[in-house]
Amino acid sequence: MSYITEKDNEFVAGTYARFPVEIVSGKGSYLYGSDGKEYIDLGSGIGVTAFGIADPTWIKAVTEQLNKVQHASNLYYTEPCALLAEKLCAVTGMKKVFFGNSGAEANECAVKVARKYAQDKKGMEYGTIVTLKNSFHGRTLTTLAATGQDVFHTKFLPLTPGFISVPAGDLAQAKEAIVNNKVAGVLIECVQGEGGVIPQEKDYVCGLYQLCRENDVLFMVDEVQTGNGRTGKPYAYMNYGVKPDVVTTAKGLGGGLPIGACIIGEKAESVLGKGDHGSTFGGNPVACAGALTVLDRLTDDLMKEVNEKSAYLFEKLGSCEGIESVTGKGLMIGFKPKTKSAKEVVLACMEKGVLCLTAKDKVRLLPALNIPFDVLKKAADVILDVCRK
Ligand SMILES: *Cc1c(COP(=O)(O)O)cnc(C)c1O
Repeated sequence: MSYITEKDNEFVAGTYARFPVEIVSGKGSYLYGSDGKEYIDLGSGIGVTAFGIADPTWIKAVTEQLNKVQHASNLYYTEPCALLAEKLCAVTGMKKVFFGNSGAEANECAVKVARKYAQDKKGMEYGTIVTLKNSFHGRTLTTLAATGQDVFHTKFLPLTPGFISVPAGDLAQAKEAIVNNKVAGVLIECVQGEGGVIPQEKDYVCGLYQLCRENDVLFMVDEVQTGNGRTGKPYAYMNYGVKPDVVTTAKGLGGGLPIGACIIGEKAESVLGKGDHGSTFGGNPVACAGALTVLDRLTDDLMKEVNEKSAYLFEKLGSCEGIESVTGKGLMIGFKPKTKSAKEVVLACMEKGVLCLTAKDKVRLLPALNIPFDVLKKAADVILDVCRK
């Protein structure tokens, strides 16, 4: 154990069950430990380093901005913030963007938008947000309340009131919740990430969207994990043919720097006015300059490549006798090992130089979107080898 692990264990709050690896550097889809060990990175820091470690395009934009001004505050205008907002609106066809620093913060903004929209229009009692069971929306007290998993709810009561969760896939229950409560918005993940890499059915998402329209309730999609090319489209909702009123995103957007965005469509574009919301670091020019290079590269060609790598992984993992099932979309993939636990597979892969994630009982893969095919193949061979044994 080196001084890094010792000091971390002594001084960092004990909220993380870290793996015994000290990351010191990386390049592309490779990470290097303090012991010199090389790892293929199939986790991307939980879907954050969308174009890998030390990506030259991203580094150039970020360092150029660092050499101009690293922070100005939201009292003033800066170019990267304005350009990134324009780009997010161009990609989604939506109207306004609020910037924060994390997924949770983006979702907090979505909740504020929905509540203010409904209360301006229908009355003060319209504050309820409907979410799905088994969802994950963040760790702040409000986004924990939005998270439809009881394990997150027990230790920190009271949580923010005004949230109801309904079972995914059951339109009748969603309708009942929307009709029988004073609902402001519905918030869903098109592919549940932390919940076990579970894509929603198309009919269900379209049905929810319809219900929201009929009841003038904001249809909001949490794309913190699924966004920014992860599922083979710029945003996962684009796989479903729906037009959300609010999209939240973070993780991969920054390419490695903290950023969150709440993107607001036409219906609620004027809901937030001066003084209604704010964030000191929100729209930071360095983070935004990096994010611009991520969005600029979500081309049709890249999406095609993501889908080809996805098909390769589905085929390869799906035909392994040690794997029970494969789920997900694009390069957001989960698989359930037959005999080992997900944790055991992750540890065995780590031993052999491949870093994977878990999501409940699944092993979860979120490689860089531009991971070279040969590196992906090498990593997949290791996974298969581990799962077969
Ligand atoms: C990670 C995640 C969040 C929380 O993001 P933070 O940046 O950790 O606050 C919210 N929603 C989803 C779907 C996520 O995957």
